[in-house]
Amino acid sequence: MTSPTDQRTDDALGVLRRVFGYDTFRDNQREIIDQVVGGGDALVLMPTGGGKSLCYQIPALVRDGVAVVVSPLIALMQDQVDALTTLGVRAGFLNSTQDFEARRLVESAFVAGDLDLLYLAPEALRTESVLRLLDRGKIALFAIDEAHCVAQWGHDFRPDYLALSMLHERWPAVPRIALTATATPATHAEIAARLNLGNARHFVASFDRPNIQYRIVPKREPKKQLLDLLRTEHPGDAGIVYCLSRASVDKTAEFLVQNGIPALPYHAGLDSGTRAANQHRFLREDGLVMVATIAFGMGIDKPDVRFVAHLDLPKSIEGYYQETGRAGRDGLPSTAWLAYGLSDVVQQRKMIDSSDGDRARRQVLAAHLDAMLALCETVQCRREQLLGYFGQQSTGCGNCDTCLTPPESWDGTVAAQKLLSTVLRLHRERDQKFGAGQSIDILLGRRTDKVAQYRHDTLSVFGIGTELTESEWRGVVRQLLAQGLLAVEGDYGTLSLTESSGDVLGKRREVTMRREAPRAAASRTSKPR
Ligand code: ADP
Ligand code: ZN
Repeated sequence: MTSPTDQRTDDALGVLRRVFGYDTFRDNQREIIDQVVGGGDALVLMPTGGGKSLCYQIPALVRDGVAVVVSPLIALMQDQVDALTTLGVRAGFLNSTQDFEARRLVESAFVAGDLDLLYLAPEALRTESVLRLLDRGKIALFAIDEAHCVAQWGHDFRPDYLALSMLHERWPAVPRIALTATATPATHAEIAARLNLGNARHFVASFDRPNIQYRIVPKREPKKQLLDLLRTEHPGDAGIVYCLSRASVDKTAEFLVQNGIPALPYHAGLDSGTRAANQHRFLREDGLVMVATIAFGMGIDKPDVRFVAHLDLPKSIEGYYQETGRAGRDGLPSTAWLAYGLSDVVQQRKMIDSSDGDRARRQVLAAHLDAMLALCETVQCRREQLLGYFGQQSTGCGNCDTCLTPPESWDGTVAAQKLLSTVLRLHRERDQKFGAGQSIDILLGRRTDKVAQYRHDTLSVFGIGTELTESEWRGVVRQLLAQGLLAVEGDYGTLSLTESSGDVLGKRREVTMRREAPRAAASRTSKPR
């Protein structure tokens, strides 16, 4: 048995072995730890599962004083502290869920130096009483987890993070380590600027997760498509299925159970006891499928998640990367599967248009959605596109759907012109805007009630698009959206032209389109690299 005093005089490798039970450091963990132990600042970009926690937990044990860890994941603080306590590390947390007595105990332990790590929510650092408490103890370092939350242009901005820039002013001698699993080059720079990390060393690990096979398919009958995937490729495997709404989480979980797949729901609408129980079972039992909103997953460490399936389009590439990153932490082959359709785009545009926040904020959200769409519609390697988004280079991976079954492309210039001129005519000649469905009905020459009501059969474009099927036209609309040649807006998902649409209509620009993959999607035919 070692006492905490021994641990403090120990070196980093000794702590890794004795406290955490691992033999060697991974990648650049050692350099990061040395930097912080030596009193320097660090900015760490490392994918989920890369081993960020040890980068501050080990310095916390090696350096004198208590490490203060800022984390937005209040729900997980108890778990994190429990996990450390099991290892014999003295950890505590302060947050709003605690009663007075529990708080007081942690506070006095902190002041007495009887803690190795103290977890705090960012909002706590805005209260004067907490700041004064910190003044009364000895701080070994500040760790700022989920540091991308400070970025206003990022996908997960939390205003409380902005206040963290004062840590440096108030405690200039205390080293700081900021960590995140997702950052574009712009977000990376913003984190450094906003947290005053001008002198920090930057550590950027590769974001590639070679064992994850990325696949994105058109949404037809999503629940059935999911069931096919699970039955044919992942029988008995543990996995996560993400849905946008609580209602669809419940329905999907029920559907899977009815079809003999052990599934559990997880969303913020369930009471906390049920949520905790479901999470516990998912972590402990084999082969369970968790159907969840994105409320589930942050900080969850289950190594053998074999698939992550999205039944709805994620709001950003960062979100997609983080969620799919929960698959295959053990390095074994895993699947990231996403089904998406035009209705996703319409729904998300609607959410953006009706979201609070100013125009600039809505533009950020729209840019995130556009990037996600471009990933869905790309004819290139998904991994290349994904890593490129994070500023990292790669070449055709051989382990994504577009590499395994290269999509055929076709010259969609004429189709694009037909669709865009339908939108243009509705607008110019009738001063009307409609959703994609109406334009497609017009192109296909369908005499629906709505066509009759608005006399759209008298438009010159009526019936000029019968060479494509309805689902092909939907593909055309999606790809025009992804290429910025068409926009969708408002409550009804109405289509409108963009600045670039004129180039297509004026025959100054050709449009290459991706032919929709045949029904049988790519299967796992190649070994991961
Ligand atoms: P992150 O916070 O980057 O998502 P974690 O810190 O939770 O990742 O680490 C992911 C998993 O890898 C954990 O189970 C952790 O114990 C393990 N791990 C981290 N570093 C090492 C190491 N050097 N050797 C073996 N396992 C490690
Ligand atoms: Zn690829």
